Amino acid sequence: MLYIVATPIGNLQDITKRAVEVLGSVDLIACEDTRHTKILLDHYGIKTPTTSFFQHNRFIKGEHLLELLKSGKHIALVSDAGTPGILDPGYNLINLAIKNGLEMTYIPGAAAFVNALVLSGKPAHEFYFGGFLPNRTIARKNQLEKLKSLGCTLVFYESCHRILASLEDIAAVFGEKEVTVARELTKKFEEVLRASPKVIQEKLAKNKPRGEFVIVV
Ligand code: SAM
Repeated sequence: MLYIVATPIGNLQDITKRAVEVLGSVDLIACEDTRHTKILLDHYGIKTPTTSFFQHNRFIKGEHLLELLKSGKHIALVSDAGTPGILDPGYNLINLAIKNGLEMTYIPGAAAFVNALVLSGKPAHEFYFGGFLPNRTIARKNQLEKLKSLGCTLVFYESCHRILASLEDIAAVFGEKEVTVARELTKKFEEVLRASPKVIQEKLAKNKPRGEFVIVV
């Protein structure tokens, strides 16, 4: 059985009892970064062995994990934060397990875009999750122009290195429209800014932006 287990996106308390039980009872936990997951496992006194499953070993390791699953082992799949499969290599293992007809279930929990969408107060009955916007400004603006025509709430993940540039391009495409930028969700320095992209950009530019971001347009 493959258990896809959501883990916290910051606050270690944000995990279900069932997730803790599963992590403590499976044969192996496949983690994006074993050192990162160890912090969570130590917090809950979980001693289950871990193995790494990340971007660069996902094909070879995926086959190995598949063999273990076929031999009857129970494996939990976790990512560094939130829900495996949402913009992390978890997707590859889930897909492999489906193609091989293996049994799996998802133990639900946090995903950063849900927190940001809820806190934005913007219509959530119809929204588009765009993952990370392209790196380069021309491609990013093109993508934003295309998505503008959807006419619904748009949600993007962003890093501290690109947040200012992305807000610049969002301002160019959406003008003064109020957007929400959510930073360090569930963590000590959680911050939710609701204003025009330009105003938020100016505020964030005062100090070097730090942490993880979600943008809701
Ligand atoms: N699997 C994760 C999920 O379920 O949300 C997402 C993984 S993705 C590789 C990492 C991105 O998620 C970060 O760059 C950031 O945009 C967003 N993110 C993750 N944790 C966050 C947090 N606590 N606050 C704000 N954004 C977060």
